Amino acid sequence: MGNVSIRWRMLVETSLLVILIASASLLFGVIGTILAGILALIAVVFLSLHLTNQFAEVTDGVIRATSIEPTHRLDPAGPAELARIARAVNRLMDRVGEETAEDFAERIRLASILDSMQEGVVVVDDQGIIESANPASIEMLLTAGDVEPGMQLSTLTNHPDVINVINRSIEGDRTVSAEIELFDNSRILRAVSTPFPRPETGAVRALIILTDLTDVRRLDTTRREFVSNASHELRTPVAGIRASAETLQRGAAEDPEGREQFLKMIRQDVDRMDKLITEMLELSRLESGESPLELELVSPSKLVDDSISQFMAVATETDLKLESTVPHDLPEVSVDPEKIGHVFTNLISNAVKWTPPGGVITLNSWVDERSIWFTVSDTGQGIEPEHLPHIFERFFKTDPARTQPGTGLGLAIVRHLVDAHGGAISASSTIGEGSEFAFAIPLGRS
Ligand code: ADP
Repeated sequence: MGNVSIRWRMLVETSLLVILIASASLLFGVIGTILAGILALIAVVFLSLHLTNQFAEVTDGVIRATSIEPTHRLDPAGPAELARIARAVNRLMDRVGEETAEDFAERIRLASILDSMQEGVVVVDDQGIIESANPASIEMLLTAGDVEPGMQLSTLTNHPDVINVINRSIEGDRTVSAEIELFDNSRILRAVSTPFPRPETGAVRALIILTDLTDVRRLDTTRREFVSNASHELRTPVAGIRASAETLQRGAAEDPEGREQFLKMIRQDVDRMDKLITEMLELSRLESGESPLELELVSPSKLVDDSISQFMAVATETDLKLESTVPHDLPEVSVDPEKIGHVFTNLISNAVKWTPPGGVITLNSWVDERSIWFTVSDTGQGIEPEHLPHIFERFFKTDPARTQPGTGLGLAIVRHLVDAHGGAISASSTIGEGSEFAFAIPLGRS
């Protein structure tokens, strides 16, 4: 009986132990599972936080590279997919960078071409808003104040003809051109307006090219005036020759005295034509720079004395005193003696022509720190103040009827000869007292 109870107890104890072990292992299993679950959850949270950070870094990198700092590149670190994205973004930014740099360089190149153009270039949209206006256009239209893209066309110009050209070209969708006179700066412009659409919207805008025609027109006028003056100057001696020849033909040739007189008149007219042609050719050579200086070191007093000697006979004949007050000790100067001699010849011959008998013609010279000065003064009839600013112009004569002898080219040639030496000439005069022509040639020419 005792054995049975012992066995029974053992059985119960063993069963209890088994149950205990089983319950314990169940408990540990549950706890382990919970712990593993918690650990997995922590890992997932940690991982997703890490990934979120890396995504945020990539996003920040993309934002920085695309909008703040185009040279910024992403770090291709982290998970393979993120690294691939970073590398792809970097490649894209490299390409965009290259294209932007090319685009920028192209824009700079275009802007510098527009800035250095002599023609004015303006782009205006159909609402009259300026898209672009280069410096030449601003200068040509004499615009005061700044002109920036986005401003109204009226900030650039209010000239009705310019606005009209632009409006007609936009409305008619065709190129319109017009010659425009700007009265405030006496300029003549050609404005050509061509419509062209904006590629993105198709809205019409106009490209206006402005060309300054002022110099061309002025040259044209000068050329026309020159031809008209030259023809007029030639017509007088030609008419004289014709009249003398006809008179001779009608019988004057039979009379020795008459023949002599008319032949002399023909000779004078021929000389006049010859002088005119020679002076026109000389002026043309000087103006086109075909007459280079042949510089020599010469004494100013010798230059003046040589010129005076050519007029001594005529001065005595017309009872004029022709003298030099040039000091003999002036230093030698570097000039073209033939050309300066020609200046003196023209000035002295004018003085002789316009000074009544008994008058005095004086030549003087002096040196200051920069120039050698020469003056030719006379005690003649003088030049009206309103004529003084014009006497160096081609064909200018003080009498409108042009009955005076002379071509009106002498002083124009003088001015060119002095100009060629880098000098300047001016005239002063008092009616009834006389005139003085003064010119200065810079020193230090080799
Ligand atoms: P021209 O060959 O006709 O003399 P210039 O060009 O030498 O032409 O002179 C232009 C004009 O200037 C002359 O027609 C004359 O009216 C005036 N003029 C030039 N020199 C003098 C002077 N010394 N005194 C008065 N008038 C002068």
